Amino acid sequence: MKKILILMLLFALFSCKEESKQTKVIVNKVKLTKDDFKLPNYEELTLLNEPLPDPKPGDWLSEHDENGQSFDQYFKNKNLVSPSKKINIIYIQPIGTFTDWEKKIIDWNTTYIQLFFGLKTVQLDPITEESIPNDKQRIHNGNEQLHAGYIIHSLLPKKKPKDGIVIMALTAKDLYPDPKWNFVFGLASYEKQTGVSSIFRYSDEKLNKENYHICLRRIIKTSTHEISHMFSVLHCIEAICLMNGVNNLKEGDSRPNALCSVCLSKLSWNLNFNDLERMDNLIDFMNEHHLEEDAAILSKQRAIIAK
Ligand SMILES: [Zn+2]
Ligand SMILES: [Zn+2]
Repeated sequence: MKKILILMLLFALFSCKEESKQTKVIVNKVKLTKDDFKLPNYEELTLLNEPLPDPKPGDWLSEHDENGQSFDQYFKNKNLVSPSKKINIIYIQPIGTFTDWEKKIIDWNTTYIQLFFGLKTVQLDPITEESIPNDKQRIHNGNEQLHAGYIIHSLLPKKKPKDGIVIMALTAKDLYPDPKWNFVFGLASYEKQTGVSSIFRYSDEKLNKENYHICLRRIIKTSTHEISHMFSVLHCIEAICLMNGVNNLKEGDSRPNALCSVCLSKLSWNLNFNDLERMDNLIDFMNEHHLEEDAAILSKQRAIIAK
């Protein structure tokens, strides 16, 4: 079967093949032409890009041939997904129950997504696992698991309001894509602009004030990586970047919550970022949540753009 959904091993959601099939949401908004668009001090900003290390066995690029995506290719994408006046809200759909700390992480993640994309982001009321049929849930190795395919293909399309450009479900339960699989970190449909991710495997111990930032750092990374795909950004091979494909938690942890100059240009152009205000907001968020390494990268970028 020709795939319209892609198993996501951590962040690896989409491939180039799916790009041409994605739903055309809107392309007729007035934008600067590509030649008119350049981030301020772009050449200097590009000097901050750090080259990707040679992939180790098991890393994403050791198993996947990727072509990357230049700004020009992004600009010329006839099926580019852009917000319009009527379709411009990112919806977050929590599923199931959450502990107090998990709930805080889901709420902060929603806040972060809004700051990152500069689009109104609305968290819908949680729905219970009862919205998922019994035969789309299971207990596996002692873990309750939800069927991710059912969520993105059957559940979320019904939940997405008309003004929603993207809907993403988040759960604290483990996910599985297929009875033959042990688990999946998340799953998404390019066609339906739906995705689901779980924080189940994002913390090694019970969440508390001292360790919650590890889980938060992972889920904001997954969420913004996935939603960037939904805005037609493909995997990045330009530099160390939020949009690199990654195969496992360790590789994912080695990537920043920051876009390289090429990927930042794509989203800044497509979503009309106010770059400095956006970076200030993100840096404040990161400093508030002990994500100093990520904040330091953004601060360097900001300083160059502000010159
Ligand atoms: Zn990906
Ligand atoms: Zn990039």
